[in-house]
Amino acid sequence: MTNRAVLAAYGKYVLANYPRVPIALVRGRGAWVWDAAGRRYLDMVPGIGAGFLGHCHPAVVRAVRAQAGRLLHVQNHFPHPGQAELARRLLRLARFDGRVFFCNSGAEAAEAAIKLARRWAQVERGTKRFEIVCVRDGFHGRTLGALAATGTPAFWKGFAPMPRGFRHIPLNDMRAAVSAIGPRTCAVLVEAVQGEGGFRAASPAWLRALRLLTRREGALLIFDEVQAGCGRTGTFFAYEPSGVAPDAVTLAKPLAGGLPVGALLVRARFARALPPGSHGATFGGSPLVCAAALAALDVLAAPRTLARIRRHGALLRRGLEALRARHPALVEEVRGRGLMAGLALRVPGAGVVERCRTAGLLVNCTHRTVIRLLPPVGAGPRELRRALVILDRALEGG
Ligand SMILES: *Cc1c(COP(=O)(O)O)cnc(C)c1O
Repeated sequence: MTNRAVLAAYGKYVLANYPRVPIALVRGRGAWVWDAAGRRYLDMVPGIGAGFLGHCHPAVVRAVRAQAGRLLHVQNHFPHPGQAELARRLLRLARFDGRVFFCNSGAEAAEAAIKLARRWAQVERGTKRFEIVCVRDGFHGRTLGALAATGTPAFWKGFAPMPRGFRHIPLNDMRAAVSAIGPRTCAVLVEAVQGEGGFRAASPAWLRALRLLTRREGALLIFDEVQAGCGRTGTFFAYEPSGVAPDAVTLAKPLAGGLPVGALLVRARFARALPPGSHGATFGGSPLVCAAALAALDVLAAPRTLARIRRHGALLRRGLEALRARHPALVEEVRGRGLMAGLALRVPGAGVVERCRTAGLLVNCTHRTVIRLLPPVGAGPRELRRALVILDRALEGG
């Protein structure tokens, strides 16, 4: 099928809930993908973060092939070794005594966190607390609960009535946090570095304040690490530099090397809030996905990989700062940390994204004006420099 034929079939048969890029991808390896016409692209935003290991990472492919011939899926009433090992390794990385719930996506992990926090407050503590304090421009997914937690009212439009019990405060606003976190609060849900919201980072002091305020109320502090976690910012969890210890963490996107996965890590003392029968996910933590995730973690959590991410992140940052200096009328600021880099423009970024694609570079634009780069770990200095050169020309063309 040609690019055009695939696109035409999408127009006829596939729901048009995404803006569609007019190339059909058929093959990928590392930081590169090929379209149906055989044209190669440098992919600096694989899977919008889910492809952090790069396309078809050999270790993940090997693990998936081996596991696929042994056992694909079992109902969660049966334990299997892969899930046991994955939970143990995630908790060791989080450095807390906890329990893990597995699901299939970031939104599902957010739903699990919301349900756990409410049930903890209402059943285990016997209070009437139900409110979750979230952050303006924060993003937690598209299911109704996760969407209600998401701090962009435009995404709620037309889906009324939205679930009640969510309250949004501006990022890094100390006063707003003090007044919002109170006797109705059962949890605070926050990204240490906002993904969809345009790569703004929460300040360590603000995160520490959230920790104090939630502890005072007996409310849970939950970090959404779906986009910024798994090493993306140069530490396995993006919240680590703040020194804050959360009560729960959600992970998803790159955790299984490109297969669908979601996980909620929660401190042991809160884990009893979801007893047998209270929550579930048919496909969550299947043998296949756990095998992929274990292979992915071998790479993503390795100190060598994290050092590489910091090194290449610094290189990317310097390159983007140079672009800002060269295009001051167009580029407002450079955002992000590690291999999560954003170029905030003073104008909508769609044109730049399109000119990049025409020149063989895939990037995307979030929050309308922020050019988003989520390079795969395997992208080396050569690929990063090439991306910067193309981006430079694309900015010139605007
Ligand atoms: C993408 C994302 C989600 C939602 O994940 P899905 O797998 O698309 O449901 C949640 N939180 C953050 C921070 C994300 O970036």
